[in-house]
Amino acid sequence: MSGPTRTSHPEPILHVDMDAFYASVEQLDDPALTGAPVAVGSPSGRGVVAAASYEARAFGVRSAMPMVRARRLCPGLIVVPPRFARYREVSGQLMAVLRDVTPLVEPLSLDEAFLDVGGAVQLFGDPPAIGAAIRIRVRSELGLPCSVGVGPTKSIAKLLSGLAKPDGLLHWPAAEVTTRLRPLPVQLLWGAGPRTTERLVEHGLTTIGDVADTDVRLLRRVVGESLGGQLHALAHGIDPRGVEPAQEARSVSAETTFDEDVDDPVVLERRLQRLATDVTRRLRAQGLAARTVTVKVRLADHRDMTRSQTLPRPTDRTHELVATGQALLRSLRLERSRVRLVGFRLSGLGTPDAVTQLALLDDEGEATEADGHVPGERWEALDRAADAIVARYGAPSVSFASLLDDEEHPEAASHSDADSSASGVSGSDDG
Ligand SMILES: [Mg+2]
Repeated sequence: MSGPTRTSHPEPILHVDMDAFYASVEQLDDPALTGAPVAVGSPSGRGVVAAASYEARAFGVRSAMPMVRARRLCPGLIVVPPRFARYREVSGQLMAVLRDVTPLVEPLSLDEAFLDVGGAVQLFGDPPAIGAAIRIRVRSELGLPCSVGVGPTKSIAKLLSGLAKPDGLLHWPAAEVTTRLRPLPVQLLWGAGPRTTERLVEHGLTTIGDVADTDVRLLRRVVGESLGGQLHALAHGIDPRGVEPAQEARSVSAETTFDEDVDDPVVLERRLQRLATDVTRRLRAQGLAARTVTVKVRLADHRDMTRSQTLPRPTDRTHELVATGQALLRSLRLERSRVRLVGFRLSGLGTPDAVTQLALLDDEGEATEADGHVPGERWEALDRAADAIVARYGAPSVSFASLLDDEEHPEAASHSDADSSASGVSGSDDG
């Protein structure tokens, strides 16, 4: 009588993450790089490391590190310029392998994704077996190593893929999660960035077990209302977030409703800058560029005003997109108006212009930019460094300098529109 049933499993979540992705692709495509210390990034002195091979990591080279420092640490370092079109191509192959297992695939960036394999168990075996099979397929079809975490929740699966690196798989049975979490350092909790970690340690909370044993009201006082509750739950292995399969993004956006209507143009502009920076980071995390920038404002009387501008070519550069948004905001002439909501949206999505990318990496081209603005490559380096730091520590730790005095709770700062399928902020190739 019974039809096919979804077999539930206590540990249905997989996190699949390529190892040193950009660097591994370069080693795959150029056999001369196999076994060599490789850093992907601009060879010029001002660049930062976008990805380092494990051979380079042995010398202390890390992503987001200035290339000058990386070369000092590792004199034999081979620096290879990034080829994003190639990384997107390999990313497509990876996601195709994952979607063969289940349609419930949530990409976090080009080289990592969550899967919910609860419904695939009858077909393919238990989740650790599925994880092992994925690793074999990725190795044989892409020629590249990846690591897999298997657990009851997204945060545990992500933690485990990190601990499994390089080229490994870790699985924790649900019943053992809280015990196994206890001795680990607090910074391994998802959402515990450097400042949060510092505050926790100041209060004597150095392990995840310490956080689990602390009254949630005290945690809320130490790290803030929302994060306190979240860290307490995560320390107990509780994470209700499900895997959300991404549709093809048609736009990426965020908007903020103010607690109180705002009539200060400086406050408004800063908030727009913050939203735009966040949205642009999510754009890059998906390997995309945008042509159209839209700014929306809702006035205190609930009237909406929008302005859009379409650029001559697609771009993923923060400074360009943010500046366009600011110009649009100014063009609304809101000086006397009370504003209830501000939003920022990027559409006309496509892949970054290959010609533009080449130009960004070309030192000679920059020398001709004599008007004093920062050359393209430096913006690219800044963007990628910021992305890498965000990927490692979470969004609140990086922003434009002018935002640094604008302390707010990050969770209140932006909410995605329903039409935005972007998720996660991981834009670096961090392991
Ligand atoms: Mg990775």
